Amino acid sequence: MTLEQAAALDAADPLAGFRDRFVPADIVAYLDGNSLGRPLKVTRENLVRFVDEVWGERLIRAWDEGWMQTPTTLGDTIGRVTLGAAAGQTVVADSTTVLLYKVVRAALDARAGRTEIVLDTGNFPTDRYVLEGIAAERGATLRWIDADPATGVTTEQVAAVAGPDTAVVLLSHVAFRSGYLADVPAITAAAHDAGALVVWDLCHSVGVVPLRLDAWGVDFAVGCTYKYLNGGPGAPAFAYVAAALQDDVRQPIQGWMGSADPFTMGPGYQPAGGVRRFVSGTPPVVGMLPMRDMLDLVEEAGLDAIRAKSVALTSFALDVYDAELAPLGVEAATPRDPARRGGHVTLDHPAFRELVPRLWKLGVIPDFRPPDGLRVGLSPLSTSFTEVARGLLVVADELR
Ligand SMILES: *Cc1c(COP(=O)(O)O)cnc(C)c1O
Repeated sequence: MTLEQAAALDAADPLAGFRDRFVPADIVAYLDGNSLGRPLKVTRENLVRFVDEVWGERLIRAWDEGWMQTPTTLGDTIGRVTLGAAAGQTVVADSTTVLLYKVVRAALDARAGRTEIVLDTGNFPTDRYVLEGIAAERGATLRWIDADPATGVTTEQVAAVAGPDTAVVLLSHVAFRSGYLADVPAITAAAHDAGALVVWDLCHSVGVVPLRLDAWGVDFAVGCTYKYLNGGPGAPAFAYVAAALQDDVRQPIQGWMGSADPFTMGPGYQPAGGVRRFVSGTPPVVGMLPMRDMLDLVEEAGLDAIRAKSVALTSFALDVYDAELAPLGVEAATPRDPARRGGHVTLDHPAFRELVPRLWKLGVIPDFRPPDGLRVGLSPLSTSFTEVARGLLVVADELR
């Protein structure tokens, strides 16, 4: 029954054909596209061509022929295709962790006299750890929101804790564990009402949930490119800095590549104009290649269509859960309301910690998130409904 429903959903799926663009893997179900997106076939060709024709042939000249501008040219593409950001506000560099440090430091220093940073206990570890470090370094106070995992961080909670001492509010758009989707425009407005700046972590929404950063009045954002943007392991991250703030903010890692004129090699640091100043060292050009192919694919498919399939996939996963897994004592940790749900579903059961390594051996690949969550990440362009059904049926069999 479940497999028949899946086959019918696949037959009616307007995006089904995109699956063939990905490198095939000899597995039953890839359910971790939210952690590491699959490579595209075209990426293999493009990497070979890059080695032969660009790096191999143009050599050092290629820095002047475009590489130097890649942080902002690729940033503009990410902004246009996925963020709802006009050109000149997005930069590609570093890891999310490092960009988060730079952006939060810049935001904190831009609100001189204010000493508090609002964040939540459910955020991704690196976000919490980086902010603990910044608080220690700057003598700032962390104000923790304890979000209900079922509802995530609410606008009311932010409005209640943000006040005249709040410099920065840092939250994730999609909670990495539960998949809860926060209300970015409402929470941003609540932070602004208190006079604070917002930093949004978009790691689990970029490329799968449509964003309107300019229209929502977001100040800063950071995000990963190796999850739903399929940039490959360790691909560099991106940061968004609203145009109106750029010339008034400074980031602390003052490297030559973000200076006004790197090759003058002068005595003192002068920041480059615009978002370029958020670059520190030499751009990771090779790591920027694969995500371009995925950005092309996202643009071809359309982000609204991708979101529609994402909602259909997570809804179907919850239907299979209701039929096959709930009777076995598994609990759903993900919101039922699709409007409050990102691209993944998390299911809780005490046996999952032991079960996940066995699932991987069987070719069913979700991931495990403590204390007992099986996280099922469904990347819309590379995942079929049949794959979801097959994978979850194996989970049910193994649990039995
Ligand atoms: C995946 C993820 C990160 C990862 O940061 P890295 O610096 O790339 O390791 C950060 N924040 C969130 C919310 C994530 O989901």
